[in-house]
Amino acid sequence: MAERECGFAPLLFRLHGGAPQVVREVLLERGWEEYDEEEQEEGDWNLYWRSSGFRKSDYENILPWQRLNHHPKMSQITRKDCLARHMRRMKIAFGTALYDFSPAAFILPNEYTKFLGVYTRNRTTDRGKSRYWICKPVDLSRGRGIFLFEDIKDLVYDSSVIVQRYISNPLLISGYKFDLRIYVCVKSFSPLVIYMHQEGLVRFATEKYTLASLDSLYSHLTNTSINKFGMCYAMDKERVGRGCKWTMSRFRSFLHKQDVNELLLWHRISNIVTLTLLTAVPCVPSSPNCLELLGFDILIDASYKPWLLEVNHSPALSLDCPADVTVKKGLISDIIDLMNYRMVDRFRQKGYCRKRSGSRYLWPKISQGFLLPKTLHAPPSGNKNWNQSVSGSSSSQDTRNNTGYATCPDHPNSKSTGHEKNPKKFEEINDEVGSDDLKLTIFNSTRQSHRNTPSTACKLPSLRVHKLKSPAVPWNRVTQDRGVPPCRVGDFILTFPFNEATWKASQDQADVKAIVNEVHKLTNRLASSFNEKERTKMESSQSTGIRDKFEPLLWGPKDPPLRGVPPCRVGDFILTFPFNEATWKASQDQADVKAIVNEVHKLTNRLASSFNEKERTKMESSQSTGIRDKFEPLLWGPKDPPQQMLLLKFRSQQ
Ligand code: ADP
Repeated sequence: MAERECGFAPLLFRLHGGAPQVVREVLLERGWEEYDEEEQEEGDWNLYWRSSGFRKSDYENILPWQRLNHHPKMSQITRKDCLARHMRRMKIAFGTALYDFSPAAFILPNEYTKFLGVYTRNRTTDRGKSRYWICKPVDLSRGRGIFLFEDIKDLVYDSSVIVQRYISNPLLISGYKFDLRIYVCVKSFSPLVIYMHQEGLVRFATEKYTLASLDSLYSHLTNTSINKFGMCYAMDKERVGRGCKWTMSRFRSFLHKQDVNELLLWHRISNIVTLTLLTAVPCVPSSPNCLELLGFDILIDASYKPWLLEVNHSPALSLDCPADVTVKKGLISDIIDLMNYRMVDRFRQKGYCRKRSGSRYLWPKISQGFLLPKTLHAPPSGNKNWNQSVSGSSSSQDTRNNTGYATCPDHPNSKSTGHEKNPKKFEEINDEVGSDDLKLTIFNSTRQSHRNTPSTACKLPSLRVHKLKSPAVPWNRVTQDRGVPPCRVGDFILTFPFNEATWKASQDQADVKAIVNEVHKLTNRLASSFNEKERTKMESSQSTGIRDKFEPLLWGPKDPPLRGVPPCRVGDFILTFPFNEATWKASQDQADVKAIVNEVHKLTNRLASSFNEKERTKMESSQSTGIRDKFEPLLWGPKDPPQQMLLLKFRSQQ
C-alpha cells in the first residue's frame, strides 16, 4: 500500500462477475493487480472489464486514467434486428451492390407481410429451385433457438426473431461447414479507428453438411457451444481433425495450398467490417476512454464470397481447446497494448496520493488529451454546491480556477475530503511523470460537441503502445504528425482509416458518404489489381504516386506495408536481398556483414529442411505464427514472391 501511495502504483483492473478468466490471467501475467473494492477507493482502477454493457453513469463518471471495454450503444450492430435494420438502410442509401454481403433479413412479427411477399415471389420465380431460410431469436446468442426451414408452414416463433436468407452453398472443408470468427477492435468511433486481429478462429460444424436434413444442428450451425456436444466432436475428422476449431493461421495455410487469393478474401472481409461499423458511427456517442472488442461471424460461400452473419458483443473468450489458447491469450494481450497504459497509472496514483494525503484533488488542465467525466462539466443532479465547489468558476463549462489549472470537486463517489491548501500544479505532476509520458495525441475536440458531450470535454493521453511487435508506420510525412494511429499493434492490423481521404473523412462528424465512396473505389481497384496484367503493370510501375495509391490494397492479413522497403518484384526482377527483417535491419547504414552472413546461413539450413515435404506441411499447418514467420521467405518461388511478401517480412526500422 505504501508503495502504491508514494512509488509506482501497479495498474489495477476491475472485473465484473462473469468477465472472462483469460482477461484476469493475462493482466496478472503482465503485472497488473486486481481491484479490490474493500481496499481501494471507488475510482482507483485503470481498466474495468465487463461482459455486459456499462451503465450510462459509468461513462459519465469516467476518470482520465480509466478505460472501459465497451463503447455505449453497441447493440445498434450487435442485436440481430438492429443490424438487419441498419443493413437495409445502408442498402437503400448506398446501393445493394456495396452492401450485398449481408443476407436479406426480415424482423418478425412486424415484417411478416414483407417476408411473405419475398418468399412467395422467390417460390414462383425460382421454379422449383429450393430457397432456404434461417430463423434466429433477435437477442439470443450461441445458436440458441435457431432453426432452418424451406416451407413457410415450418416457420413457428413465439418471440421477436429475424428470418434471414440461408447461405446454402457454404465453402466446405472435407464436407464440413465452417465460419470465421474475426476479432475486431474499435479503438474509437470518432474518429473511426478499426483494427482487425490477424489471428482469429475457424469454427466447424461437426457433422457433414447436407441440405437433406435441415434439423441437424451439428451440420448447419458452427457454434462451438452446440458442436462440443456433438457425437463427432472428439473424433479425428478428415482434414478438420479433432474438436471444431482451427486458428486463422491454419486456415490461411489451407487457402495457400488451394491457390486461393487469400489477400482478396481478406480485403473483402475488411470491407465488410468497415461498412458494417460505419452504420453505427452516427449512433455511438464519443467515448474516447472506451474500446470495443467485437466478434464478426463471416461465412464464406463456395465461390469464396464472404457473408456477414452477425456481430458479437463480448465474443466468447473461454479457453476450450488449444486453438482458443493460442488465439485468445494473444488477443487479450494485444487489446491491452492497444489501450496503451503507460502514464495513466501514475496519473491515477497522483490523484489518489493527493486524496489520501488530504490535499486538493487536482485535475489536468482542460485541453486536448483527457476526457473528464461529464459530472465535471455539468452540475450533477442534486449537487447545489457545484459552482461554489469549483474554485473561480462561474459556469459549469469552465472548471479552471484562476491559477490556470483545472480543479474539480471530489468525484461524487470518492471519499476525498478535498482540502484546498497548496494545490500542486498539474505541470509539476507532469514533470514528475516524465516527459516521455507526456506526448498527447491531439484528438479533434470539435468532434465532442456533435456527440452531446460537453464542449470542454477532453480526451485521453496518447495511447502510447509500449509493446509493439513492430513500430507504428505512418502513411506518409503529412499524416505522421496528426495522430494517425499505428498500423499495427501486436497482431492487430489497422484496417480503417486506410488512406488519407478516409482519415480526413472520419474526423469531426464522420462523412459516411465520402468513406463509403473510398471503400467503393478501393474495392474496384482491388478487383482490377488482381487482374494479372494490371498487377504486373502496377508492380513494375516506377511511379511512387501510383504505388502509394495501391498500397492499402497490398496489406495482407499478416502485415501492413512498410515504408522504404524495396518492391519485391519489378517486372521479372525478384528482390532476393534483404529477405527478412533481420537482414533488412542489418543492411541499413553501415551494413552488419556478420549478421547478414549469419542470416544467410540460417536460411540455408532452414531451406534444406523445409523442402523435406513432411517438414513443410508441418510447418505450414503450424499454429505458431512465430515459426511460420521464420520460414516465410522460403516460400518464395522462382516465379512469384507470395503477395504478402510485398508487405510481410520487413517491418519498419523507424
Ligand atoms: P448466434 O448469435 O446464436 O450464434 P448466428 O447468427 O451467429 O447466431 O448463427 C449461428 C450459426 O448459424 C452461425 O455460426 C452459422 O453457422 C449459422 N448461420 C447463421 N446465419 C446463417 C445464414 N444466413 N446462412 C448460413 N448459415 C447461417
